[in-house]
Amino acid sequence: MPSFQKLFQSKLPEIPTSIFAIMSGLATKENALNLSQGFPDFKSDAKLIALVNKAMVEGYNQYAPMPGIYSLREAISEKFEKLYQANYNPDTEITITAGGTQAIFTAITATIKKEDEVIIFKPAYDCYEPTVELVGGKPIAVQLDPESFNINWQEVKGLINSKTRMVIINSPHNPSGKVLSKEDMQQLENILKNTNILLISDEVYEHIIFDGEKHQSACLYPALKERTFIIASFGKTFHNTGWKMGYCAAPANLTKEFRKVHQFNVFSVHHPTQVALATYLKNEENYLNLGNFYQQKRDYFLNLMRDSKFEFTPSTGTYFQLLNFSKITDENDFDFAKRLTIEKKIATIPISVFNEKKLDTKVLRVCFAKSEETLKKAAEILCKI
Ligand code: GLN
Repeated sequence: MPSFQKLFQSKLPEIPTSIFAIMSGLATKENALNLSQGFPDFKSDAKLIALVNKAMVEGYNQYAPMPGIYSLREAISEKFEKLYQANYNPDTEITITAGGTQAIFTAITATIKKEDEVIIFKPAYDCYEPTVELVGGKPIAVQLDPESFNINWQEVKGLINSKTRMVIINSPHNPSGKVLSKEDMQQLENILKNTNILLISDEVYEHIIFDGEKHQSACLYPALKERTFIIASFGKTFHNTGWKMGYCAAPANLTKEFRKVHQFNVFSVHHPTQVALATYLKNEENYLNLGNFYQQKRDYFLNLMRDSKFEFTPSTGTYFQLLNFSKITDENDFDFAKRLTIEKKIATIPISVFNEKKLDTKVLRVCFAKSEETLKKAAEILCKI
């Protein structure tokens, strides 16, 4: 009889450790400036922290209701109404989650069956494909042009068949910073209407959008809204990614399925933080200025990078900037990113890990959600390379 070790088979044999864990781990080990994983290096608003503290002291320390506390779901519903004139019933259409990634995992596992096809645009955030594979679905990858990151909707139309069950979009897009336009959304709407295809719209960077662009939420398009799980993140918006708080908004029939999984996945999420967010979210100043705030950081950083050998097009959304290094070396991006961390003490993300067949376009992703001091230090290092 072979040993248990030999008999055991991995469900995900090809899936490596997430690049975010790898690069942040290496940055810590090497004591390098960490511009890899996306998180701010400055503090969340003291008022919000005081509200969480107050909620704990007041005793909100037992399980929250399974879908999240009502007052927070109500505040989210009001925000949808105010920003997008979109109606989401707090009772039946909004669920508070442990961050965006859990919401994506739950939406996929609640709806995708064996052999279902899911269209994913690459480069893609790293959790989409493994989650589809875990439930026996089939990711259908569409590699985007590595410079424009434009979606060719004709190509997408050609991929649709009776097995297509879901499309996943992400705007503003991680890692490219590309923002989908109204025309993009209309084309998608035309392709999906009159089909039974679901949509996940990963909108976690909804408020981090620059140069006067407007976020095109899927909820603005009726034929999309009725089939969409909108995924949102408080961590990205309020500078506290470690709290792992987010939400999913979807029509009642989809939310019903979502909650069937959510209840056994986490049941409910951190109660005192929900109490605090319900108050904090009411003040729109707490999120409407985020685009300007990050645009200044982008401009500050890119201005310092003007004379570097890296080439770039300014990001139009998210807190990420892509840097092309083909004028510097022909090493593959993963080796180059590792070498920069160890030798130059700066950690970045090689974007081949998000591409189809690990396509290496000689591009690194840096996170500019950092203090000016960090950005200055980073630019100093990068300009010497
Ligand atoms: N969204 C973050 C990024 O792209 C990372 C999230 C994570 O570490 N899982 O950097």
